[in-house]
Amino acid sequence: MIIDELVSLSNLYGSNEELVLAGGGNTSAKDGDVMYIKGSGTQLATITAEGFVKMNRQALADIFTKEYPTDDDAREAQALADLSAARMPGEESKRPSVETLLHSLFPHTFVLHVHPALVNGLTCAVNGKAEAERMFGDGFIWVESCKPGYTLSKICYDKMKAYMSEHGKAADMLLLQNHGIFIAADTAEKIGDKLADVMSKLNAAVVRWSDFDSGDYDGEKAQKCFDVIYEVYGDDAVITYEPSAEALKFAESPETAQAVMKPFTPDHIVYCKAEPVYGFCNGCIKGAVNKYFEEKGYMPKIIIISGCGFFAVDMTPKGSDTAAILFNDALKVATYAESFGGPLHMTDELSDFITNWEVESYRQKQNA
Ligand SMILES: [Zn+2]
Repeated sequence: MIIDELVSLSNLYGSNEELVLAGGGNTSAKDGDVMYIKGSGTQLATITAEGFVKMNRQALADIFTKEYPTDDDAREAQALADLSAARMPGEESKRPSVETLLHSLFPHTFVLHVHPALVNGLTCAVNGKAEAERMFGDGFIWVESCKPGYTLSKICYDKMKAYMSEHGKAADMLLLQNHGIFIAADTAEKIGDKLADVMSKLNAAVVRWSDFDSGDYDGEKAQKCFDVIYEVYGDDAVITYEPSAEALKFAESPETAQAVMKPFTPDHIVYCKAEPVYGFCNGCIKGAVNKYFEEKGYMPKIIIISGCGFFAVDMTPKGSDTAAILFNDALKVATYAESFGGPLHMTDELSDFITNWEVESYRQKQNA
């Protein structure tokens, strides 16, 4: 059964930390008139057949021929309503992934969508597109950073149409700038082959790897940082401290930290907030955090301190842990991007849009 193959494919790739972090990514499979898509709030590593939402393929296809308002909120609300209406009868209690429309663009049976650091080293790099062409020829579609949701889906729809008329077949790979990758194939085995090919080409192209072994950090200063963070956030705050060699390298000065002071992908915004704060010493933390709060209306989740690395702060162990995992991911992306012309962040405009986007705050709540 296709759904059984989809479940095992999802569990396999979902439990690979090189590919999936914090419940990110999604999978789908098409079976006749129906497309199964991962439900929002489920995890690929543990998903079962019930975690997938059955969608009406024709209803999904019809969404691309409709006219939507230009106003962001109105457009996204209508598209989301149409997406909900495309659920098969009996599926009303489930919420399809916000990336459902992108999956529907591929005629292939199986689609895997993930945000691996290695891939994003390429999609978040200055020369990402040119380097992708060098490695993958014309066997993919490249999509520039844009607003997520319907806007992104429509751009991909138009690009897929253009690709089909030029090449006489659908693309089986989509690279989304500052986001991740889609891979499509008619069998689960071919998904694995394609993924292995992409990852091995990227592996061969990366010239510097991140070093997450513990670095030579200033323990006394770090202890003082803990004290100040508890003072500022309250005793209930949960701190995950990361003194890795890589974190220390980026934390060295405001210049070296520049590569990670802006977000690379929506995941980094959802779990780490759009920007960290940087300080030279424990004495800087209070002022820097207060200034950040005044400007943005929320507390930072990542505090980078020279000589110490970074501190991920949240009010729950899971929140703090996940922020640390995703910021380590950002360090990796910044490092790998060095091999493809240097890091390229999301624009402030896009980062603000995602920060305020209702769908992303829903995603964060689901994973909290
Ligand atoms: Zn995604």
